[in-house]
Amino acid sequence: MQTIRLKKGREKSLLRRHPWIFSGAVDSVDGSPRPGDTVDVLAADGRWLASAGYSPNSQIMARVWSFTRGEAAGPEFFLARVRAAVGARAALAPAVPPRACRLIHAESDGLPGVVADRYDDWISCEFLTMPAERHKRDIALALLEATGARGVWERSDSDVRAKEGLVPLAGHLAGDEPPDPVVIEEGPARLLVDIRTGHKTGYYLDQRDNRRAVMDLCAGRDVLNCFSYTGGFGVMALLGGAARCTNIDTSAPALDIARANMDLNALPRERAEFLTDDVFAALRRLRDQGRTFGAVVLDPPRFVDSRANIQRGCRGYKDINLLALRLLEPGGLLFTFSCSGLMDEDLFQKVVAGAALDSGRDARIVRRFAQAPDHPVALNFPEGQYLKGFLVQVV
Ligand code: SAH
Repeated sequence: MQTIRLKKGREKSLLRRHPWIFSGAVDSVDGSPRPGDTVDVLAADGRWLASAGYSPNSQIMARVWSFTRGEAAGPEFFLARVRAAVGARAALAPAVPPRACRLIHAESDGLPGVVADRYDDWISCEFLTMPAERHKRDIALALLEATGARGVWERSDSDVRAKEGLVPLAGHLAGDEPPDPVVIEEGPARLLVDIRTGHKTGYYLDQRDNRRAVMDLCAGRDVLNCFSYTGGFGVMALLGGAARCTNIDTSAPALDIARANMDLNALPRERAEFLTDDVFAALRRLRDQGRTFGAVVLDPPRFVDSRANIQRGCRGYKDINLLALRLLEPGGLLFTFSCSGLMDEDLFQKVVAGAALDSGRDARIVRRFAQAPDHPVALNFPEGQYLKGFLVQVV
């Protein structure tokens, strides 16, 4: 039998159903498991705690598949987990649109290392750990069976795979091959998603409800959409009656899709501007040009990716928030986000408060944002919470 035996007293987090086993908590590994194998996790006194996928190259040496004895990680197990996850989304319709939503949100759906997003008839997946990689074909087949989608595409090309000793991979996994691009519906918008080469699985579904808030609050405003990617926030703002939208992103291919998204939604090109630029530099240039806006969206990539660089990340967030606040007209709105899981909402609020103080603007939070409900946070896994945001109104 392949087992991991924990040090004395280190079973506490597992008894609270937290799914991670850190290497520092492990006393011994017996039976020579190979990376990706399923192991039994035992307390120091030999008591059975969980079955878990083994990732010897990671600081998180194992992640729990099941807290139920006899439940084996195989085709039936994965079909049951995938069905439960898909069913949970279906039960949240129409708040969660069935054909453009996250179907599997890793640990919070009992499937560590597995992310699956549905785009129309297609599913785009990431497998981030050795055990997830090992079982990916079973998971892909389960997704087809549970959803009736036509095909599953793999986008396991994120750099976090390196922490597990996995190489980046992308390509066809099951069913038919998706068209390029796919079109999804988000509220009144139709949006192009490039599953093959877009960021992550192709699109940022986690911001769906927050893009809706921008649509509802920006009528008549001149909007600055920073870190625009394919222009989702901008399209929603314009559909909601915003006067104009300036989109900034360093990715030229993303901005090409953003332009195409204008056409797809019958929005005249002259209502939008597209700047292929670094936001830090562009905000300074807009300041020097004396430009002002009725609303600014700041949706940067994750600035904090380890505890060691929390401070550096905070400086980045403060810089862009300070510059954005200065560009706002009186009564203007700042939609500011952080998707850094290691930065909690309290800390983010302090950073934005510091930015407001230094900007000399009188500002207050009038609304709080989080990730959409198809990105749940299991109560035994608070790490699942990562996206937070504020709507800040300046006086
Ligand atoms: N708001 C988007 C998602 C943004 S993801 C949406 O709702 O879909 C973050 C984006 O920031 C990516 O498109 C990335 O290309 C871009 N980016 C990263 N660093 C940047 C920088 N310094 N300046 C401008 N864009 C940047």
